[in-house]
Amino acid sequence: MVRMKSGWWAALFALLIYVGIALIFTGLGIAFGPSAAQVGATRPTDTIPSHLAALAGFGLILGILGMMIYGRRALHLVFLMPALTVLLDIDHLPIYLGYAETIRPAHSVVFIITALAVTAITIKALDIELVMASAFMGHLAVDSGIFAPFSPLSFSYIQLAPFRLPLALGAVAAALAAGVVLRRASRPTIQKGAGLG
Ligand SMILES: [Zn+2]
Repeated sequence: MVRMKSGWWAALFALLIYVGIALIFTGLGIAFGPSAAQVGATRPTDTIPSHLAALAGFGLILGILGMMIYGRRALHLVFLMPALTVLLDIDHLPIYLGYAETIRPAHSVVFIITALAVTAITIKALDIELVMASAFMGHLAVDSGIFAPFSPLSFSYIQLAPFRLPLALGAVAAALAAGVVLRRASRPTIQKGAGLG
């Protein structure tokens, strides 16, 4: 695929990849998850707005961290980061539509590896991949309860709590790394022979 010139187009494409694969993983959970694992539920309705605000807020902080390193031209990443952070929860969609599903099918290591691989092959922009990894880790750092880290290969659920701090640190590191990558890529190349003779 042609390297996308506009960061905004690359960000939009990354968003579609992320949401698309999250929905595929949701379908795989429904198709292959044992019925005993199809017990996904929503959090109490009155806590949903504050949870979404926490996700968007942490995503925004991560995006701003990247921009602090690179500057205002990384503005598209400041939008992409919270969008990806919030949209991981698109995997709750079947519950809202009234269907049984596995718990958090896209909150999975297998999901993020797949999404990163597809992004690497199609968009070929390390900064976008780092933002995606940061947003994913940032989301899990804000979540609580249980998840299936290897969905859809395994639907055994474990507590998220012990992983939240390392995930938050990983999210911050990846956000800063995205800024560093952009900064390096934009450094003016020194013309060969410039200033000589
Ligand atoms: Zn979540």
